[in-house]
Amino acid sequence: LMDRRSDLASHQVKIGGVTLGEELLMIAGQCTIDPKNPNFFYETAEAVKEAGAQVLRGGVWKPRTNPYTFQGDTKSLDILMEASRRTGLPVDAEVMDEEHLHMALDAGVHMLQIGARNALNYSLLRAIGKAIAERDTVVLLKRSIHMGPINEFIAAAEYIVSFGNPNVLLCPRGTSPGLDGYRNHPDESITPLLKEKSWAPVVVDPSHSVGRAAYVPSCALAAVAYGADGLCIEAHAEPSKGIGDDPKQALTPAVLKTTLEQAKQIWAL
Ligand code: PEP
Ligand code: MN
Repeated sequence: LMDRRSDLASHQVKIGGVTLGEELLMIAGQCTIDPKNPNFFYETAEAVKEAGAQVLRGGVWKPRTNPYTFQGDTKSLDILMEASRRTGLPVDAEVMDEEHLHMALDAGVHMLQIGARNALNYSLLRAIGKAIAERDTVVLLKRSIHMGPINEFIAAAEYIVSFGNPNVLLCPRGTSPGLDGYRNHPDESITPLLKEKSWAPVVVDPSHSVGRAAYVPSCALAAVAYGADGLCIEAHAEPSKGIGDDPKQALTPAVLKTTLEQAKQIWAL
């Protein structure tokens, strides 16, 4: 499997003016866009840009544990793209099925996120690979909550890449069961193992890993110390007024900015 990819060893993934590996990539923004309060998202978008993020994230459709809670809203796709126009930042949004995939591509979403719950959904991975084969879309592939062996993660990426677009970022985001006190079991330490075996850049998500804003900065810095090429961090202009994970997990723009500055210093070591 991996041998076949030696052709990709020198492939460079580019997004938001960043060539992965040459500069630390910061993807930041809200867990969930609140369609009733678009101004929060516009404020968040300007704030993460000011903090130094080069890609804006915003959850349009959400994989919620409880089916009776807010599941996201297609209307948020317009808010996401409007924020992209206002800031000039490319945007990242999770797609959970093929309908989302095509809506996101038609709207011009630059980075497709595959969530931890779908990282082992091979038919969706194939559909994404086919749909982006002729485009420069980037995929942020989260590590499944239940993935064990490193090769299982790399093979999931291969389902997408095999159709011809090699722009996949591997995203450790914590596994289950959680470490007592953390939302998941932090797994940023697998970064060098992934980089040893794969062509793909590693972008760690400390937000879902530890699951509490107070612990996100240290996890982010640890990830960079382990050799991560980028970070995906939840941030909100006013975390307590957010929905989804934002009240618990989102960093304020000020903390995001400090974290990114410190991360860049570690990255440069
Ligand atoms: C998210 O990024 O908001 C999210 C739901 O992530 P994960 O798929 O890692 O749980
Ligand atoms: Mn989230």
